Amino acid sequence: MILKIIGHAFHYEMENLCRIFYPNDKIEKVYEQAETACDERTVETFMNETQVSVLCRIDGASACRKAQREQGGDDELLMAQLLFACLVEITGYRPSWGIVTGVRPSKLMIKLENEYGKQGARDYFSNQLLVNDEKTNLTCSVAEAESKIISLSKPESYSLYVSIPFCPSRCSYCSFVSHSISNANAKRLVPQYLEKLLEELEITGAIASELGLKLESIYFGGGTPSVLEASQLDALLTQIENHFDLSHLREYTVECGRPDTVTVQKLRTLKNHNVGRISINPQTFSQQVLDVIGRNHSVEQAVSAYKLARSLGFESINMDLIAGLESDTYEGFCESVDTAVTLAPDNITIHSLALKRSSQMVADGAQVADGNEAAKMLAYAQQRLTGAKYEPYYMYRQSKCVGNLENVGWAKQGKECLYNVFMMEECHTVLAVGAGAVTRLKQPEGDYIERIFNFKYPYEYISRFDELVQRKSRINSFYSSY
Ligand code: SF4
Repeated sequence: MILKIIGHAFHYEMENLCRIFYPNDKIEKVYEQAETACDERTVETFMNETQVSVLCRIDGASACRKAQREQGGDDELLMAQLLFACLVEITGYRPSWGIVTGVRPSKLMIKLENEYGKQGARDYFSNQLLVNDEKTNLTCSVAEAESKIISLSKPESYSLYVSIPFCPSRCSYCSFVSHSISNANAKRLVPQYLEKLLEELEITGAIASELGLKLESIYFGGGTPSVLEASQLDALLTQIENHFDLSHLREYTVECGRPDTVTVQKLRTLKNHNVGRISINPQTFSQQVLDVIGRNHSVEQAVSAYKLARSLGFESINMDLIAGLESDTYEGFCESVDTAVTLAPDNITIHSLALKRSSQMVADGAQVADGNEAAKMLAYAQQRLTGAKYEPYYMYRQSKCVGNLENVGWAKQGKECLYNVFMMEECHTVLAVGAGAVTRLKQPEGDYIERIFNFKYPYEYISRFDELVQRKSRINSFYSSY
């Protein structure tokens, strides 16, 4: 597709919108000087002193919209609305999220509510951003739940994220930097990695206490933290107890995503260190789908890992499911949701499959659910979970999600994962340790965020650890500037 950008600077937003309708097209942007460029799919966006217009010629069909610019008006919004109308006319497809392309609709809703009040914000979502009623209602519910959690955060609050970028095998849809320890080279890295991680935890704990920060939540993610041996988990959790003040801690989560890594010994270790929340992720309860996506575990393992964790008395257990997985069907997905609801974990997170280029699934050209089918799956999940007294409390969107759909965390009342909201809504600083981790420093009384990136790959994290420690000194200089 050729996207012509003439007389304005809204190329980013216009490209994102085209992508919603044509997710598989390579979009070439051309500017004034290349006005003659043409393709079977050409979208021309134009602005001058008086008007905004969009002309789409796509696969033999065409649509055109024009509007007068208003003084003080939002030209970018106007152009996005015109482009959306043209693409809906040509394709007959009306995306449920309208022209909202950002990752955090609830953050936008909270901002709009502060500006226009609740009804005004809702109207803005429907009439200006062209979001359908179902997604507008969902966003309002999430915004309300998030606001309560956001209010817990104070200027001196922070959370700690610990990255364990290793997994027992690689799932076909995975795009994370996570090494499968089925590879001997990756497995050999684990002890050296943990040695550095213990060091980074000590350094980070010292900085936090020097700055007088209050630790609100801890989250072990990855990867699959439970791929570590019980003794290795014990060493990490002990290090945290030795170097961090846990007296303000509200929540302690360790992801045990892959059921095949869960053992009674590991769960007891977590319990002994007061980890209250864990995540056991079946992704689907269809054995056939599990086999196709390379999860290397059985449905029974997911169920028994969950039951084991329940019997040990964890306060909060999450289960992730994914809508749109390769070879899954609408009926199969609904059965997975039903099974999860019957097991009654405290949280159920429904993800939409993301088609990332770095995944094996995309490289193999796998057939996955189309946008309409995935939307039906999410609608079923919403109705089933609401009926079972789960409430939506956090939501985010990713690029390249099937049907441009969202990921939603559902929780039983009072069981919401605080870290998910703190992190997603950037409520406070997140000090992050380990390979691929990103520290986000939040201005104590403002919105400014500064990021410190750790090295992405474990071997780099190990070999360039001293450089990384240098970078961490920016935490002190950041806080001393406020
Ligand atoms: S468990 Fe998660 S991080 Fe690990 S390979 Fe699968 S999708 Fe990737």
